[in-house]
Amino acid sequence: MSNYDTNAIQKLDNAHYMHPFTDHKALGEKGARVMVRGDGIYLWDSEGKKIIDGMSGLWCVNVGYGRTSISEAVYQQMETLPFYNSFFNTTNVPAVQLAAKLVQISPPQFNHVYFTGSGSEGNDTNVRMVRRYWDVLGQPERQVIISRHNAYHGSTMAGASLGGMKDMHAQGGLPIPGVVHIEQPNYLESGRGLTEEAFGIEAASWLEQKILEVGPDKVAAFIGEPIQGAGGVIIPPSTYWPEIQRICDKYGILLIADEVICGFGRVGRWFASELFDIRPDLITFAKGVTSGYVPLGGVLVGDRVAKVLIEQGGEFNHGFTYSGHPVACAAALENIRIIEDEKLVERVANETGPYLKKRFAELAEHPLVGYANSCGFVAGLNLVRSKGATVHDNVAFDPSLAVGMVCRGHMFNNGMIMRAVGDRMIIAPPLVLTTAQIDEMLALIRHCLDLTYADVKERGWL
Ligand code: PMP
Repeated sequence: MSNYDTNAIQKLDNAHYMHPFTDHKALGEKGARVMVRGDGIYLWDSEGKKIIDGMSGLWCVNVGYGRTSISEAVYQQMETLPFYNSFFNTTNVPAVQLAAKLVQISPPQFNHVYFTGSGSEGNDTNVRMVRRYWDVLGQPERQVIISRHNAYHGSTMAGASLGGMKDMHAQGGLPIPGVVHIEQPNYLESGRGLTEEAFGIEAASWLEQKILEVGPDKVAAFIGEPIQGAGGVIIPPSTYWPEIQRICDKYGILLIADEVICGFGRVGRWFASELFDIRPDLITFAKGVTSGYVPLGGVLVGDRVAKVLIEQGGEFNHGFTYSGHPVACAAALENIRIIEDEKLVERVANETGPYLKKRFAELAEHPLVGYANSCGFVAGLNLVRSKGATVHDNVAFDPSLAVGMVCRGHMFNNGMIMRAVGDRMIIAPPLVLTTAQIDEMLALIRHCLDLTYADVKERGWL
């Protein structure tokens, strides 16, 4: 039995707490689920129900819940120096140590770090930084940043503008000027008649088309998530990113990799840029840097940009109260120590990632699953009404039926958190998941797919 009065908490929640991305009227009718505890890959709600957290909180709890050594590092730092700023020719020890550590684990072109409080602030920093870079170089007309539809880069004005979410642009007068979008490399959606490899080249060519349309001397940068996360775990063909790199190089355009989800071992490398063989000039990070224990984000600044800003740029008029927050940096240092000590990046690369890939791909045998793929510790499957000869011949459900949400409901009720993006069901589990736990999770997913199938059949939707 639990000690929580769920009803009372839900009432207070409904009365006072405005949640991110939430229809409060709808939530008020059913009440929020109250999470109270975590340990390893498991969560418990206020009713005492145990749940496998297939989403690592929000793609962030890479080392799992309940890490006492992170709480201790945080406590120690709070006792020693809970806060000081880095504005006025001052610094603090954990921020310096973390910057040096991030330089050590990131690709060789990175020797500098700019800290923020979140991924969104990291991307706002990118917008100002790339524009400043071109200003300093005497090319102030290079203002335009090219991004992609269905990308997610955060919720601030610049972050949401860089992102390509239609529903976000529809509110608050977005995107801001100087941000344009191309189509995403979504093979299922746009790759009919092409091999995945050929589609990757085709999708990258949309960047070159856009550069020529805008005018190469007006384009400052291209930004993309190596694997789109919130957009539905869209894993691009292997040919896509090298071709994007070639096009950026051809026109001298800066490349920004938003690794807020992909970084810190998620794909079996410290950064997905290594896996996809690209050399970004800037990398946005957040989430996995502290495993979400304390908020922290930032930008890894490559030598090309850092050299110009530092040697010629003078003061960069940008910064946050919490840039380089000592407590957040102390949490990150301990989190990274755990990832290294437990060899989590190597485990995802060589052992658990390949095992998850094999087991997850087997789900495509299920009558409801039209496509299932994964990369490291992100994976997704598409629920379909019926299957055709190729993935492009599958028949989707009417989107208004929201079958993904029905499936998510069965998952939730049976102790498994799996997120629905339309009818694509996605996971991004903690990197500590063992092969035995992968089996446990996959059995649960299969069971919930069966329940969803029976449910959908009963409703006459098949
Ligand atoms: N970029 C990406 C790729 C993300 O997934 C997110 C968050 N889901 C963000 C940026 C924004 O990060 P935050 O919510 O910490 O502002």
